[in-house]
This record gives sequence, C-alpha cells and structure tokens, in this order.
Amino acid sequence: MNYSEIDRICEKYGVEILRDEPLSEYTSFQIGGKCDILVKPDNVDCMREILECCRKNDIKYYILGKGSNVLVSDNGFRGVVIVISSAFSDVRLEDDECIYCEAGASLAKVCAFAKEHSLTGLEFAYGIPGSVGGALFMNAGAYGGEMKDVAESCDYLNENLEIKNMTAEEMMLSYRHSVFSENSYVILGVRFRLCKGDKAEITAKMSELMEKRRSKQPLEYPSAGSTFKRPEGDFAARLIEVSGLKGFTCGGAQVSEKHSGFVINRGGATFNDVMKVIDAVKEKVYADSGVMLEREIEILE
Ligand SMILES: Cc1cc2nc3c(=O)[nH]c(=O)nc-3n(C[C@H](O)[C@H](O)[C@H](O)COP(=O)(O)OP(=O)(O)OC[C@H]3O[C@@H](n4cnc5c(N)ncnc54)[C@H](O)[C@@H]3O)c2cc1C
Repeated sequence: MNYSEIDRICEKYGVEILRDEPLSEYTSFQIGGKCDILVKPDNVDCMREILECCRKNDIKYYILGKGSNVLVSDNGFRGVVIVISSAFSDVRLEDDECIYCEAGASLAKVCAFAKEHSLTGLEFAYGIPGSVGGALFMNAGAYGGEMKDVAESCDYLNENLEIKNMTAEEMMLSYRHSVFSENSYVILGVRFRLCKGDKAEITAKMSELMEKRRSKQPLEYPSAGSTFKRPEGDFAARLIEVSGLKGFTCGGAQVSEKHSGFVINRGGATFNDVMKVIDAVKEKVYADSGVMLEREIEILE
C-alpha cells in the first residue's frame, strides 16, 4: 500500500506519522498486532484530508478512541488507524446546564468537570474507561444510566466530510447501538444536557459507583469490559455462570472468575485465545439455555 499522500498530509500539518505501531498499546485488552500507519490528527482539517485520501485511494481506515471496547487481531491492521486523541479533548460549559465535550475527552475528565460545576446526570459514566466519541458510538451505559439520557446533540463529519450537527433523536441511541454503528460518520463533539445538583451528592454517587466497579469487576486485568451484550430479560454473566464457564480458559484468555461477563487477558492472551473463549461461551450457553449471546466488543482485523 502506498501511503505517500498520507505522509504529505501529515507533513503539511506537522502531525507525526507512526508506522508499524503495535495496537496492543492502544487497547485496554493489550492485544493486537501492528497497523501500517497510525496518526493522531490535531485538527479537523487534517483529519478530513486524511479521511478523504483514504477513501479516494481505497485505503482501509479505522477510527479509534481510547480502545476500551475493541479487540484487535494479532495480524494487526493493514491500513490507517486514526486516533481521536487528547488533541480533541476540550470540555466547556455552554450554558448553566449544558457541557460541550470534544470526542477525544475521556469520560473521567467529563465526569470530573460535571462534578466540579455541580451538574448531575453523568454519575453513571464515572468509571467507564472510554472517550466521549466511543461512548456515544456505543451508547455506553451503566447502573441504570446511558448516553441516551444525557446526550442532547453532537457534531460530526458526515459521509461527505462536512461538519454537521445531529439531534439526540437522529442518533438513534439504543442499547449499545447508535446511528454511528451503521455508517462512517466521525463524532467530533457531544453536548450533554445535565441538571443543577448538589456537589456533595454527585461526589458521593460517583464514589459509590466506582466502589461497586472495583468490588465486582476484574479491573486488575486487561479487558474490554463486558464481552457480551445483556440478553433480553437476563444477564450474560448469570447464563455463563450457570453453564459452568466461570474461569474457562484458552491460552491467556479467561472468563473472569470475579465477573463472568468479562473475558480477561491473564497475560499473553492472543486474539485467537479470546475468540476461542467467546465462541465456546456462545456455544455452551446456547446449548444450555437457548440464548444466543451477542458480542458487545468491536473487532478490528
Ligand atoms: C474495565 C472496563 C469497564 C467497562 N465498563 C463499561 C460500562 O460500564 N458500560 C459500557 O457501556 N461500556 C463499558 N466498557 C466498554 C468501553 O469502555 C465503552 O464502550 C467506551 O464507551 C468505549 O470508548 P472508547 O473511546 O474506548 O472507544 P473505542 O474502544 O476506541 O471504540 C469503540 C467504537 O467506537 C468507534 N469510535 C470511537 N471514537 C469514535 C469517534 N470519535 N467517531 C466515530 N466512531 C468512534 C470505534 O471505531 C469503535 O467502533 C468498559 C470497558 C472496560 C475495559
């Protein structure tokens, strides 16, 4: 693949171009081979030119946030990985109850900002280790809250690489799904509509939820969070446990003994190890309970 045009664009904008970058360093699973090119554009024009170049030259590309919901193949990715980095992480107040967050801002930063301004509504997101863009894409949620409850609108690059604005309704946010799952839009920033609250109460709620995470989730191991979506009327972790798969291991990948909904990297897990665990879990749970579990984590290969 000839990446000389990408080279030229990056040189023009003074953006570093990384070759053969190991994607294991960009994902919370710490799994994944090298990509041909990895770039972290620091402005929208640069991002737009890179995307345009990829599309024109049939170069595969992938938009990566904090990589906390992605499993990357050991063969890596023959294309360009565009990281929505901290260059896009501004968070600001738009009005008394509205904050605007660039897509690369971490949820940790956004939650801290909301708390600082005594704004309630985002407590559920405290502890989800992703970016705002990734969270909107996934309609991330926890403990009874989800992005759908607080996202008012977003700015994004459409298929013609124009900056557009979309309302919450147009985002079609539903359980771990959004309009972004079905097209090639790039989320640039999200507006969250929150409510005035009590700072001490917000702080207490965030601490309580973080404590729940620490006690229930295997945060001491690399993972991509819940491996499977919650099936209607049940929990993936319960079904996996009933099937006797707690601790089920293939190579370095294991169904967490602490939380059966998580597949963890116990050390040196490969893409294939994780996929074998996922496939075995799906097969056994289906045979035992008739429920076909659906993967929540995204695959990049
Ligand atoms: C320990 C742990 C706990 C977790 N707990 C939760 C939880 O409670 N609830 C929950 O919902 N999730 C949870 N997750 C999963 C993950 O953190 C969320 O899905 C998160 O929102 C993903 O954000 P990200 O920036 O890491 O996205 P990535 O993993 O980088 O990307 C996810 C998807 O979004 C796309 N994407 C990312 N940014 C953009 C953008 N700007 N424009 C367009 N597309 C984009 C990517 O192409 C990819 O398809 C957990 C993960 C871990 C490791």
